[in-house]
Amino acid sequence: MQNNRRTFLMTLAAGSAALTTTAHAQPARLNEKDPQAVALGYFEDATKTDTKKFPKYAAGQLCNNCALYQGKVTDAWAGCPLFAGKQVAGKGWCNAWAKKG
Ligand code: SF4
Repeated sequence: MQNNRRTFLMTLAAGSAALTTTAHAQPARLNEKDPQAVALGYFEDATKTDTKKFPKYAAGQLCNNCALYQGKVTDAWAGCPLFAGKQVAGKGWCNAWAKKG
């Protein structure tokens, strides 16, 4: 009896853990090869930016300090309205980078 109850509780705990994971699932990460990402010169690693194509880039500009970044400066990944439903890298950059107001 005791054992059954334990098993039941453990199953319950595992079940709710799975539910929690699903509920908090993060949107997919933006692929650098996504046509819009390519068009905007997005790279997960800002230092890889092609400065010939995107001369606007200046060292130190990162998604996580861009006005459009929807996460905290410390978040490794967060949303960006330019790439709806996707997450961009905090250390990334694209040509639409805008200084925080
Ligand atoms: S708009 Fe800003 S946050 Fe969005 S991808 Fe470009 S640099 Fe990153």
